[in-house]
Amino acid sequence: MKKPEWKLLQAKNAQSLKEHADVFPYCQYITMDDDAVRSSHATLDKKVFPANHPFWIDHMPPQDGDCRCQIIPLDKDDIAAMRREDAKLPPEARRVQMLATRRGKKISKVLLLRLVLCVVFPPLAVLDKGLPAILITALLMFFYWIPGVVAAFYFVLRGKR
Ligand SMILES: [Zn+2]
Repeated sequence: MKKPEWKLLQAKNAQSLKEHADVFPYCQYITMDDDAVRSSHATLDKKVFPANHPFWIDHMPPQDGDCRCQIIPLDKDDIAAMRREDAKLPPEARRVQMLATRRGKKISKVLLLRLVLCVVFPPLAVLDKGLPAILITALLMFFYWIPGVVAAFYFVLRGKR
């Protein structure tokens, strides 16, 4: 099935944002600023996010067939000037959004999961480190880890009596 026109345009916008992120590290959301703009889109009007911010994954215009919103790529000088103007405005009116990217949180979550795996099932934690790492970890686990846990359980429970 052929993709609708707005989907193609949305994908094109996302692609160009990604490709030019080194020159234009920020991007502004722009509505048509008339009565037909939905309030959910109007609240995003003139807001600026980093080009690699996850905001653009969920809000890349056009957001549907009726959406006429657009993006404006911005370079460092644009942002510097905008920040100076933003400083005089109340926080809710400021355009440059400096929210922490979700990507950073994701990485630390993955690391945490990995550390838990190291304890729960070591070979799984080194699954992407190559076969030797997996084999060595698996061997150590079977020869040292399980006997170690069993011994620890034995001594802990024996002391309880
Ligand atoms: Zn829109």
